[in-house]
Amino acid sequence: MRRGNRALLLRTLYFEQESSRQDLSRLTGLSPATVSNVVADLITDGIVIEAGAVDSDGGRPRTLLRIRESYGYVVGVDVGETRVRLELFDLAMAEQAKAEYALEPGAHEPPAVIEHILAGLGSVLADAGVDESQVLGMGVGAPGIVEQCPELLVHGQTFGWDGVPLGDRLRAGTSIPVFADNGAKTMGQAELWFGAGQGARHVVMTLIGTGVGASVITDGVTYRGASSSAGEWGHTTIAVNGRVCRCGARGCLEAYIGAGALLGRYGGGPAAGDEESALAAMLGDPTARPVLDEAVACLGAGLGDLVNLFNPERVILGGWAGLLIGRALLPEIRAAAGRNALTQPMAQVSIELGRLGPEAVALGAATLVVEDFLLRGDAPHRS
Ligand SMILES: [Zn+2]
Repeated sequence: MRRGNRALLLRTLYFEQESSRQDLSRLTGLSPATVSNVVADLITDGIVIEAGAVDSDGGRPRTLLRIRESYGYVVGVDVGETRVRLELFDLAMAEQAKAEYALEPGAHEPPAVIEHILAGLGSVLADAGVDESQVLGMGVGAPGIVEQCPELLVHGQTFGWDGVPLGDRLRAGTSIPVFADNGAKTMGQAELWFGAGQGARHVVMTLIGTGVGASVITDGVTYRGASSSAGEWGHTTIAVNGRVCRCGARGCLEAYIGAGALLGRYGGGPAAGDEESALAAMLGDPTARPVLDEAVACLGAGLGDLVNLFNPERVILGGWAGLLIGRALLPEIRAAAGRNALTQPMAQVSIELGRLGPEAVALGAATLVVEDFLLRGDAPHRS
């Protein structure tokens, strides 16, 4: 009971950023006495601080509370197709340090990626002057399906990872608690908490990069399915007997709208690791129009499927390629989705660009740790 109240108060205060005891009582439905007791405990534990006062109508000024941002730090990791990025945040999600390592195309062997993550962890802690003991946890956004078992098994079929126990491998190199989820899902949570999904309960966050994925959030909760693979939108079939996809099947959406697929159709072939500037150049090239028209048509069909299947309030385009394509072609993409979705759900949905940029995968990965902290109301126990 007490633990539940603590978690409820902490979560409310986290998203309110600053709040008075009176407002916390109103927002949580907990009695003023309970709020007072729990807040006193949280202040004693160094998690919450008093942060000034505001006038209340006629009455005594109300003391504002907030979570002490330096109570603990969180690390977010984005394991992408072309790079491994790490960011260290305080609890207010202000960036304290970052590190980045390029991955050669096709060179994604688990030992190399794990070495980058552990080296990056040491690097961001040293840069920010933060000790391991002050870190509440490290969250990893990984390409592929991440089974939420203790080992955190990663099945990245297009990445060459076949049941890699990412959690166990990382814990062998650090005492910091490790969390992981699919990169589209971590980006979805970042946009839901801080970006284009704020205030919505039913959201589909799409991630378009080299790979294509989605995070389906229904009633505020990420939909996972039986073994966490839900949202593999990139491998839904858009053309029966169509182009071969990296997953081995034919006609997947990813084989039509993934950055590699677009650049391959456009021709010329990008310089290694520089797909972003190649795609930006393609979007500005009039001769790329037929390829882009096909991409818009396929993306519209894929988005229409999401609208028909999940009836979201918002569909958000994200991922570095999704943002580039969206910034250039959003009105056409919306129109194409409208041609494929049913009228009633299409009238309820807005199709928008992500607000947090491609970096949101690492930010979202760090929110996995914050979510755990808010749930337990305390720093996690170390193994
Ligand atoms: Zn596929």
